[in-house]
Amino acid sequence: MRFDIITIFPGFFDSPLEYGILRRARNAGLVTVAAHDLRSFTHDRHRTVDDRPFGGGEGMVLKAEPIFDAVESLHVTPKAERDTQKETVILLSAQGRPFTQTVAQELAGMERVVILCGRYEGIDERVNELLCDREISIGDYVLSGGELAAAVIVDAVVRLLPGALGNPDSSRFESFGAEEAGEEVGGVDGPPRSTYGAGGLLDYPHYTRPAEFRGVSIPDALLGGNHEVIRQWRRRMALRKTLRNRPDLLEKMPISDEDREILDELRYLEENPEE
Ligand code: SAM
Repeated sequence: MRFDIITIFPGFFDSPLEYGILRRARNAGLVTVAAHDLRSFTHDRHRTVDDRPFGGGEGMVLKAEPIFDAVESLHVTPKAERDTQKETVILLSAQGRPFTQTVAQELAGMERVVILCGRYEGIDERVNELLCDREISIGDYVLSGGELAAAVIVDAVVRLLPGALGNPDSSRFESFGAEEAGEEVGGVDGPPRSTYGAGGLLDYPHYTRPAEFRGVSIPDALLGGNHEVIRQWRRRMALRKTLRNRPDLLEKMPISDEDREILDELRYLEENPEE
């Protein structure tokens, strides 16, 4: 897989790519990430990439011409002929569709992803119309540039590439995991995960040694080695965390009868904390 990132700050990417899974995946040849300096595609003495907005208003806008030249220099397939299952050009924008684990999974199946990082007030909209397949936002806040968002996307996608994680199950059984509801995992001797995989829930809490730290002991359920007890505890905690922090996710996921009972009880306990 290959990422090409177009930015006015290519040096920004030197550091994030040098650590952990990203570094390992690059060294193993699973992914190539190239950052391209937008200013190399300008033709004036000042290497101008921006200009004033039509219609007035504050700030500057990144010009279309250097971005077109940069993307065309990468021999990206023209938009009309592009197979967007394999190759995509992404515009980073606070106005974009949300970047989610599902989008990360889609991108992980591609051969090539080109990412355009905006700055200032953003990028001339004709770039979006004529070059890009997707307009993506990493969250409901405004960053000063697309570089951090690009690093977030590269990280989230690369860890999903086959071979990137030491244990491939790590990316199956975690928050927003794509496991089908009802799928049995782990088998009799396998690790006691939830029967349903993550199924779109947030992950359950994790603990490691020591068993007691500053007066707080780990939950009893994790101590006895009883896989069914651990499974039930983890499922309950994943449901509780999701209910507390991201109740919107519960509306989108399939809910089993067992989950519904747990959720009813958790809601009751949230409303009646004394009991
Ligand atoms: N005027 C824009 C608006 O109000 O939506 C904000 C522009 S922002 C200061 C500059 C650049 O940062 C954007 O063009 C985009 O590339 C990037 N950016 C800002 N917030 C982002 C977000 N939430 N997700 C992805 N990229 C973002």
